[in-house]
Amino acid sequence: MVLEGYLKFKRQKVTWCFGLDELKCCMIYGSVFLGHDTGPFHPENPQRLIKTIRLLEEKGAIRWTKVEEPVKASLDDLTLVHEEDYINHVEEAVAKGQKYLDPDTPISKDSFDVALFAAGAAILGCKKVLHEGFDACFVLQRPPGHHAGRRGRALGAPTQGFCIFNNVAIAAMYLLEKCNVGSTAIFDFDCHHGNGTQEIFYSDGRVLYISTHQDGRTAYPGTGFIDEVGDGDGEGFNINIPLPPFTGDDVYEEVLRSIVEKVLAESRPSVLLFSAGFDAHKDDPITSLNLSTKSFVEIAEMTKRLRQSGCTKGFIFILEGGYGVGLPEGVYSILATLMGSHSLVIDEKTFSTSAVKDRCVKVMNEVSEKVLRPYWGL
Ligand SMILES: [Zn+2]
Repeated sequence: MVLEGYLKFKRQKVTWCFGLDELKCCMIYGSVFLGHDTGPFHPENPQRLIKTIRLLEEKGAIRWTKVEEPVKASLDDLTLVHEEDYINHVEEAVAKGQKYLDPDTPISKDSFDVALFAAGAAILGCKKVLHEGFDACFVLQRPPGHHAGRRGRALGAPTQGFCIFNNVAIAAMYLLEKCNVGSTAIFDFDCHHGNGTQEIFYSDGRVLYISTHQDGRTAYPGTGFIDEVGDGDGEGFNINIPLPPFTGDDVYEEVLRSIVEKVLAESRPSVLLFSAGFDAHKDDPITSLNLSTKSFVEIAEMTKRLRQSGCTKGFIFILEGGYGVGLPEGVYSILATLMGSHSLVIDEKTFSTSAVKDRCVKVMNEVSEKVLRPYWGL
């Protein structure tokens, strides 16, 4: 199938040309996700999804993608990851009309239900890929999840950072426990370290967790250092790549190719999940990395290479953060690339200063020395 046409994408012209390497994609989205009301001034608000859907409609991406309504997760699904006391605590806080789970994480009367739909959407994304012939699924849901640990706050973080249930962790456990998928990996490219996800799988060798994020000394939640490599059966399966503020596309591309893709190709997970956060974008209002949509295109290109090499059959992108223009533009960039737009031109590549580059090289060398060589032979 070849479809061509010009679409104006903000600053540039974009040519659509779908070809042989296109991935069959679907999306999970429903207006139910707008019901988690965080108040007028919170960065994690319903407008995030409204703007994303609007851009996807404008650019025609919705037309080429099957969009399905989410379903609720069951208590059984949640307890794959979370302790029952924590689930009850959230339900009671919402029922009592509490306004906040913690100072970062507002809740409203429908928040418990919406959080069940968010977790259920992540599971539905897995089912689409496993049973319905889709190569990839993008789950556009909120609230996000990767900061939520088994009992809420994780690894000593001060708050849950806008998260209620850990959607990506629930999806990974669902694949392992209910679908007999042998191994999964999670690539977390949100700007913040997924401390909840790390905590949940730290001793579990069935789930490889790789996170690129802004250095925890300069960003919430203050975790995600290189020597946190996992323990017990999980030793070597937790890979943190903390990047200094102002890291640009030039370095990020190198990190993707020389670390993330190599480890994923070596580990050959049956299904690859993404904690898909878009707050590492240069224009995000709450973070300090300097990526453009070019890096999100690179992530999608890497996904296609992994699929072509036969390493991994299914890919599920589960939305995390992203609080500025990088969210709609990033989601669109990934979907358009996966669906086979060969000449998609987005932003101009961003570059790191030489000081930032030097620090990034040190990070990559340290990851190589402490994790890649000893555990992966790379
Ligand atoms: Zn984030």
